[in-house]
Amino acid sequence: MNVIRASALGYCAGVRRAVDIALREAAAPQKVYTAGPLIHNPVALETLKMRGIEILEEDADAPRAAQGAVVVIRAHGVTPRTDSRLRDRGFRIADASCPKVKRSQTLARKLSEAGVRVFLAGEKRHAEIVGIQGYASGGIVVESAHDALEGARILFAEYPAAETAVIAQTTLAAEDYAAICGALQMVFPRITIYNTICSATRERQNALRALCEKVDAIIIAGGRNSANTQRLVAVARAACSMSGEATGGAAGAGKPVVLVENAREMPEAFLRGAYAAVGLSAGASTPDEVIDEIERTLLSSGDAG
Ligand code: SF4
Repeated sequence: MNVIRASALGYCAGVRRAVDIALREAAAPQKVYTAGPLIHNPVALETLKMRGIEILEEDADAPRAAQGAVVVIRAHGVTPRTDSRLRDRGFRIADASCPKVKRSQTLARKLSEAGVRVFLAGEKRHAEIVGIQGYASGGIVVESAHDALEGARILFAEYPAAETAVIAQTTLAAEDYAAICGALQMVFPRITIYNTICSATRERQNALRALCEKVDAIIIAGGRNSANTQRLVAVARAACSMSGEATGGAAGAGKPVVLVENAREMPEAFLRGAYAAVGLSAGASTPDEVIDEIERTLLSSGDAG
């Protein structure tokens, strides 16, 4: 069996940096927490737990810090309120917010201080959007073009001369952002559009599309609760003209696309070497060890077959 990795896969620069910062902090004797789960991957979370890193749920009342305890802020960032609440409780902050997310936060704050009404295109409950919203007083979160039109009309009814701008969640699909911006422009034709989408997501999706053409089956490694991993599955399904459940194995027409969280979940067809060439991709929160182990399992089962 031949296993081909996508040319871009796994940890993006922001997530890799956040994990590195957390592990570096955990190497010292102090107690280390993360503000919410650092990463949407069960294997990575287990590894962090084994290093003694605990999760502080943001909504919960943070305990008062033990002497020298540190809280690592994850790549998605947090609101300024969460940041100061943690400092007030006595924690030292290790800020692992992705620099690209930081830029969106700074932009939101500057615009908002200048009296600009800011639309935030993205998922209302996503930590990154919640964090940026904390910097944009009166920021309006819109999840779709429909949402955007409605939100813009409500704002226009109250402030027809409002100066407006829109910022995207870094992982938003370009097509979705274009649709949202188009809807906003119908009401506020002079709205300033900021392109804050990160190329990491698109690079992984494009690499996967190219890979689908070269192989007989695709394995996507990642957490089922990871939005970007699920998006990779959808991209592969479309590229492989797959019907049926993406996570259910090889049923249906086209090339099979299977999501696995770890090597133990590898479907039997892959283990018996049913496919001559298997493509491997992974979500932005999938640890290198998981990708390596899956690749090893595929290669050894191919040998066995
Ligand atoms: S996807 Fe991009 S913006 Fe988001 S954490 Fe990764 S590098 Fe940063």
